[in-house]
Order: sequence, then C-alpha cells, then structure tokens
Amino acid sequence: MRIDVVTIFPEYLEPLNISLVGKARARGLLDVRVHDLREWTHDKHNTIDDTPYGGGPGMVMKPEPWGEALDAVRACGEDREPVLVIPTPSGRPFTQELAVELSQRPWLVFAPARYEGIDRRVVDEYAERWEVHEVSIGDYVLAGGEAAVLVITEAVARLLPGVLGNVDSHRDDSFAPGAMADLLEGPVYTKPPLWRERAIPEVLLSGHHGRVARWRRDQAFRRTAANRPDLIERCDPAVLDKNDRALLAELGWTERADKRFGRAVPSMEE
Ligand code: SAM
Repeated sequence: MRIDVVTIFPEYLEPLNISLVGKARARGLLDVRVHDLREWTHDKHNTIDDTPYGGGPGMVMKPEPWGEALDAVRACGEDREPVLVIPTPSGRPFTQELAVELSQRPWLVFAPARYEGIDRRVVDEYAERWEVHEVSIGDYVLAGGEAAVLVITEAVARLLPGVLGNVDSHRDDSFAPGAMADLLEGPVYTKPPLWRERAIPEVLLSGHHGRVARWRRDQAFRRTAANRPDLIERCDPAVLDKNDRALLAELGWTERADKRFGRAVPSMEE
C-alpha cells in the first residue's frame, strides 16, 4: 500500500518511522511519503491560511496550496486515482469496519488540516474525481489532523497482509467482525501465574480449549455490557448461543421484539 500525507508539520509524522508501521515500511509492505504543504505556496511568508468568509474567529486553510499539492501527489503516482482521507471532527466516525475498508485500497492520501479546517471547495473538487472520506477519530476536537493520521495509519497498516507476524492476531480483536459478534475483547494474562498474590483465572490453566473459549466469550460480553452498552444493543441475536442469552439476561439485557437487545426495565412491583 502507498500512503501520502500532506501537512504543514511533516515532523509530526515521525512516529511513522518506528514500531509496526516503521517495520512495515522497512520491509517494503508500506510506502509512506510525507509532503510539506508549504512547498506549494508562492509568497515569501509561505501563507497557507486566511480569514473566513462571513467572519468569525480562527483562520481557514486556503484552497490553492491544497489543490496544487494534491495534484502534484497524484502526478507522481500510479495509474489509478488515490483515496483521499480528510480527518475532521465533523466526519464519519473512524471504526474498525472503515479501517478494514481502507486497508483494501492500494493508495491513500491524507489531508490533515489545522486552524478551522480546509476551504470546503477542496473536498468538493476532489470528490468529483476521487473516493473521498471525511473521518473523525472521536467526539473531541484536536488542534490538527496529524494525530488522526497516525491513528488511522496504524489501524490500517496492521491489517495489511504480512504486517502482523501472526495472521490470526486481529481476528479476536475488539470490534472484529465475525464469531465474536463485534464485542470488545476480554482481559488477557501472561506469566507469572501469581503476581502480588493475584492469581490468573483457573480456567486459563485448564488446557481445555472449549472452556477457555467459553470463558473468553463470557468476559467479552461482560466487558462490552459494562463499557459499550451500545454494542450490545446493536447485537444481532442470531449470532448468540444459549449461554450468551443466559449471560445477557443475568446482566439485565432482554431480547426485544425488533430482534435486538435492550436493558430489562424493572416492573412496578419490583
Ligand atoms: N472548527 C473545526 C470543527 O469544529 O469541526 C475544528 C478544527 S480543528 C481545531 C483542526 C483540525 O484538526 C481539523 O480540521 C482536523 O483536521 C483535525 N481534527 C480535530 N479533531 C479531530 C477529530 N476528532 N478527528 C479527526 N480530525 C480532527
């Protein structure tokens, strides 16, 4: 996969040289190119922002440098159009599902903004030619999109074939679609078996694969119910077995007529 990042802070992307992404680059699995947006300015101050039309606080990133930068990146590219990813708090939430989708694209171009964001016409212009995703990494506002680029790149890179040593490593991850019904992953343990008088759950020493799998699934349900009740509510009852249903009932969830789960409402007599 190829990734281009256009930014006014190229040094902010230095972490892409280390750890999993850095290794993937060194092994030729990922081709990352970071570009300084100011290279596409033509005044002596390398201006990339201006005041917003309509007034108001803050500055807006000018369309001309972005347009020239994105055209230049495209021009030194492949014989296909890239996918443009624009981090913004007003974008579509970044999820594991979107990470999987992006990991299947051969070429991503990131446009992280600063100030109040990029002049809207840039999105409108490239959306006519490229696949464009405006993506939010959470319901909070950062000072710039570079941290979001690091987050998205790492989540995408670990899904690329050959990047993780064990191909099954992301199969059991939290949010992984499949048998675990989009649950959070439960707790994990390693040696020693006793640490500060804290033992690990007996079942993990049993060597009984079925019991271990059951315990892991129960833990995943317990953790999801406690931390992400919205995921339980969205859970498709068709992927649940008898034990799952009993555990959910014990935790106060009931199957609703619309074939989803909801919290049991205590009756007046209780
Ligand atoms: N005024 C903008 C708004 O409320 O939507 C916020 C602009 S923010 C100060 C500057 C830039 O940081 C954004 O354009 C975006 O690139 C990045 N950013 C901030 N929060 C983000 C988030 N939650 N997800 C993705 N990018 C974010």
